[in-house]
Amino acid sequence: MPVAHTLEGPLSVDVLGRQDPELAEILLAELARQTTTLQLIAAENFTSPAVLAALGSPLANKYAEGYPGARHHGGCELVDVAERVAVDRAKALFGAEHANVQSHSGSSAVLAAYAALLRPGDTVLAMGLPHGGHLTHGSPANFSGRWFDFVGYGVDPESGLIDHDQVRALARSHRPKAIVCGSISYPRHIDYAAFREVADEVGAYLVADAAHPIGLVAGGAAPSPVPYADVVCATTHKVLRGPRGGMLLCGSELAERVDRAVFPFTQGGAQMHTVAAKAVAFGEAATPAFTAYAHQVVANARALARSLAAEGLLVTTGGTDTHLLTVDPAPLGVDARTARGRLAAAGMVLDTCALPHPDVRGLRLGTAAVTTQGMGETEAARIGALFATAVRDESAGRRVREEVRNLTGRFPPYPGQ
Ligand SMILES: *Cc1c(COP(=O)(O)O)cnc(C)c1O
Repeated sequence: MPVAHTLEGPLSVDVLGRQDPELAEILLAELARQTTTLQLIAAENFTSPAVLAALGSPLANKYAEGYPGARHHGGCELVDVAERVAVDRAKALFGAEHANVQSHSGSSAVLAAYAALLRPGDTVLAMGLPHGGHLTHGSPANFSGRWFDFVGYGVDPESGLIDHDQVRALARSHRPKAIVCGSISYPRHIDYAAFREVADEVGAYLVADAAHPIGLVAGGAAPSPVPYADVVCATTHKVLRGPRGGMLLCGSELAERVDRAVFPFTQGGAQMHTVAAKAVAFGEAATPAFTAYAHQVVANARALARSLAAEGLLVTTGGTDTHLLTVDPAPLGVDARTARGRLAAAGMVLDTCALPHPDVRGLRLGTAAVTTQGMGETEAARIGALFATAVRDESAGRRVREEVRNLTGRFPPYPGQ
């Protein structure tokens, strides 16, 4: 079976297939879906076989509440070593004084950052959701909007860039306890120094939600929030290419508060298989190969942006500094929802997203996954052309689907599969 190549021995899908063919079939069909369509969701990637091996390991059996050397359960000697390795690698990779690698997800990391710094009812300034803020940045449907008083800043409707004058004016009038910088769809580098300056002026904490760019930071392809933010929240599964999960980085003075905010305040036992997989991913991210990968991700996103602009789409901010870009398909005569449907039929998987004019939805694309597959700027430009063809003409979907199948066939994410 295809996955057996990446998960050998007793932990392979072969074992699952013999015991539970129903589930094995779903796993294999999902692998086929991932490898025969184009994964352009900006938050997704292909983890390495080594990361998958750690995730499918017996560490999943271990209960480990607490931190290395101070657990509530016996038998933690070895998982303690694994967590120390993960923490040490994260600190070295990001030049941080302290790292917490237990957060179950990016949202859990943000929850812990707020728990470490804020009290219910405190005012927080963050990017508004209609402009690209995450659910955890004050959505009324999320704990953040229920427990804190969020004020939203936006982007300039013309340039699509963060309006730092507006950020400063809102900070001065609302005196927030914390300012959050970070977004799910902002294609440019965040000016952390500018946010730090405003935070200092009003005496606010600066929380960087670097869920998206942290992998580029690891590879030296984006500026680091670590020297500027009081707390950095991140995911480990986006560009960083590790297991699904979160982490926090901070200075030593906040280390204890951040750790207590994760456990016992917002989480129970750490998921040690995921912690070990994070360690593997941090190890991979510290290699020259990953640095080259991160830079190629950005080069590919730029090539894709150029190609989409040449096809007539409106590219927010005119391009990108990162792995992601957002576009308005209106000039091609369709709205974002229709476009996403046509693209899905053509084998191109992506999301709709906010645009600088919040009443108009756009499409968000990312190049982290296709770059892991080994695609370069030539393929990225080709993807832009296929994208435009599929969006413009519904009847071209079948032809584009065939070309997507050929393209993905040449770049298997798990070689030998
Ligand atoms: C992805 C993301 C998160 C949340 O990550 P989950 O693992 O899905 O909880 C939080 N903030 C931002 C800015 C993100 O992009």
